[in-house]
Order: sequence, then C-alpha cells, then structure tokens
Amino acid sequence: MSEHSSAGLLPGTNAPRSPITAVQVVPVAFADPPLLNSVGVHEPFALRAIVIVHASGGVHGLGETYGDSAHLARLERAGKLLIGTDAFNLNQVAARVEQSLVDDAGTGGHGTGGMVTTTSLTDRVLSAFDVACLDIQGKVLGVPVSTLLGGAVRDAVDFSGYLFYKWAGHPGAEPDAWGEALDPAGIVAQAHRMIDRYGFTALKLKGGVFVPDQEAAAIEALRAEFPGMPLRIDPNGVWTVETAIRMGHRLEPVLEYLEDPCLSIADNAAVRSAINLPIATNMCVVSFNDLPPAIEAHAVDVVLSDHHFWGGLSRSRLLAGIARTFDLRLSMHSNSHLGISFAAMIQLAAATSNIDYACDTHWPWKRAEDDVIRPGVLEIRDGAVKVPTAPGLGVELDEQALARLHQQYLDCGLKKRDDTSYMQSIHPEFELKSPRW
Ligand SMILES: [Mg+2]
Repeated sequence: MSEHSSAGLLPGTNAPRSPITAVQVVPVAFADPPLLNSVGVHEPFALRAIVIVHASGGVHGLGETYGDSAHLARLERAGKLLIGTDAFNLNQVAARVEQSLVDDAGTGGHGTGGMVTTTSLTDRVLSAFDVACLDIQGKVLGVPVSTLLGGAVRDAVDFSGYLFYKWAGHPGAEPDAWGEALDPAGIVAQAHRMIDRYGFTALKLKGGVFVPDQEAAAIEALRAEFPGMPLRIDPNGVWTVETAIRMGHRLEPVLEYLEDPCLSIADNAAVRSAINLPIATNMCVVSFNDLPPAIEAHAVDVVLSDHHFWGGLSRSRLLAGIARTFDLRLSMHSNSHLGISFAAMIQLAAATSNIDYACDTHWPWKRAEDDVIRPGVLEIRDGAVKVPTAPGLGVELDEQALARLHQQYLDCGLKKRDDTSYMQSIHPEFELKSPRW
C-alpha cells in the first residue's frame, strides 16, 4: 500500500497496529449453587479462565472461557504463539490459534461438564482471544465492540429467567438464599424470586432431571402463574423420540420453543416433523459443520449460539448471517459465567439484528461479589441489560478481585467441571444415561 492510500486510516499509518506483547491466562473459581441437570449437579465452584491480552501502547483486552485444565493448557500454547500478532488482524490471530493446536493430543476438557458436545476445538480456543482482540481494537479506536461488529441495533439486550431444579444447599453447607426447588411449587417460587429481582419477561426451565411428566407439570404451573409469559424447557437431549413427541404435544399450547428434546440431528428432526412447536438447540448444532445436515433434515428452528464455542464474536456474526440465509432463528446459550463473558454476549447481541428471543444467562446464580470486573456496569433491569457504550467491551478488570478468585481456584481443588462425579459422590446410584426417558 502506498503512503498516499492510507487516507481514512489512523493518521500516519497504513493500518491500525496493536502488536500483542504478552498473554496472561488466569484460572478462577466462583461459588455456584447446587443446580441440577441431566448429567448431575453443579459443583460448589464453577471454573473459568480469564484471558488478558496485552498489546503495544499499554492497552489490554479481556476474554473469558472455560477453566478446565486441558483447555487452560491449550490457551497457554495459543497465547505464546500470538506474541507479535496484530490484535487488529483477527484472521492472523485465528491462523495462529489453529497452528497452536496442530499437535493437540485431544485430551478433552471442553468445560461443559459431561454434556455430549462436538464443538470445534479451534473455535473453542479462538473465542477468548477473538473477544480480547476486539476489546483492544475498541479501546484503541475509542468505540464499543458493538460498533466493530457492524453497529448496535438495540441499546438493551433481553434475557430470560433461567430456572433450575436445585437442592436447598450443597451437602454439608447451609441452604443458599434461593432455597430448594424440586417440584412445580418450588419452580414457581423460584420464578417469582427471579422476576421480582430482575424483571424477566421470559422463563426457561432446565429439565432432564425428573420424569418428563413431572417437568411438564412444572411448565404448566408456570403457565398458570404467569399467563402470557414466554416459556421454554431444556431436557438436554435425554428424551427418546417417542417421549419428546408426547411431551411436545402436551406442551404445544404452552411453550415458546422446545430445547434439545433429543440429542441427535436425526432424532430432533423426527420430533420436529411430528409436533407443532419450534425446536431450539445448543447441543446438536454446535459448529459450522453441523449446519448443512441440520438444515437439510429440518431438525431445528432456533440455533442457540454461544460465542465460547462458535469461535468468538466475529464467527458468531458469520453464524447469524447463515441463520438469516436459511431462515433459522437465533438466540443465545449460556454456561456459568462472569462479567467478561456477559459483556461479550451483550455486545454481540446488540449488534445482531436477528436475535429473536430473550437470551439465556446464568448471571442471577452468581453472587454479585464474585466477579473479576468492576461492578455497576452490567445490571439486569426489567429483564434486560443496557449495552455498555464505553470503548471495547465496556467493562474493566478488577485486579484485586482477579487475585481473589484465582486464590479461590487454587483453594477449591477443582481442575475440571464434573457434574456427574459430584452427583455420584452424594448419590452413588446415579448413572449417566442418554436418553434416560
Ligand atoms: Mg440447552
């Protein structure tokens, strides 16, 4: 490029340049309540990795991802290869991450705690670096990440109240503030608490825990208590096709969509052809490779995207384009997360016109004091979070909090998420089984 062609770019340069000078990967742990799911129960601590990418000029960008030890090792390897790469060159960042995984021994540890997943290894590792580099770009240019993603189309992002069956507390510990929810009345009480505190205007129940009819009764109890409220249930693929069709028919008048009734594209396609309800997934369409067969089979109506396994915010935008092209609807999946991930989800949703439903988040299940960002920016009010407009992700790292949550990681002794073993330590008869009903 000649020096005359640089007009319009940063003064005196051909292109914005922010070479990466250092990468820190810091595992952290935060308290997690005993939330039940199809593979067991959440352990007392959830693990995350905080990725801090330093670039020239003293600017740094933040990313957050799974904290399993195998994932941490991959992040470390990728981070080393990224030194010298321009944080503005996301193609080169992606190529270097891919290169770092060439000799990957495939040691597993994707951080979803026993859920079957065929997510792309490269996209999983790339994600946190993509987010951190966009944070850097935003800070250098003085614009929020939503601007880098094409511009905000909304100034607040809607989230759903994420209901869980749960024990009163972890065994041996005091009951937590949420209390027990093991039947329809408990779920309704939990929904009231969620709505009173956060003003949610849509509700999702994590199912796959009890026999399907009992969970359908909980959904019907929510419908009776909250007429007109959009409702969803997610049994995480543990229903047979036959059960899913029976439940689908029962819940047709009540549900906004049915999430992952079965595990495979073929089984969900069989269910979809028999019921009059949209099917959503974050389990059978989890990578770009899954899109052609799922679209051909008409298996799902809604893809619940998740930038942590779709390769970050840039590639999630690509997913949104494909969804629009093939008439798939879009919303967002969530694992237990901290504020950096939340900010990334919000910036992405702000810039994605075809987010069609209130997104999922585990945010209410986290104690407010358990975070690595400075408080006050991300708050759920009336079921929505205002999109930060400060440069980058719009959140700031709290170094002391990071040190505290890292110490908590060291002290808690957990090295990977394992909901099943934890459940079996309490109920030895618990078996991992899919489909279960
Ligand atoms: Mg799900």
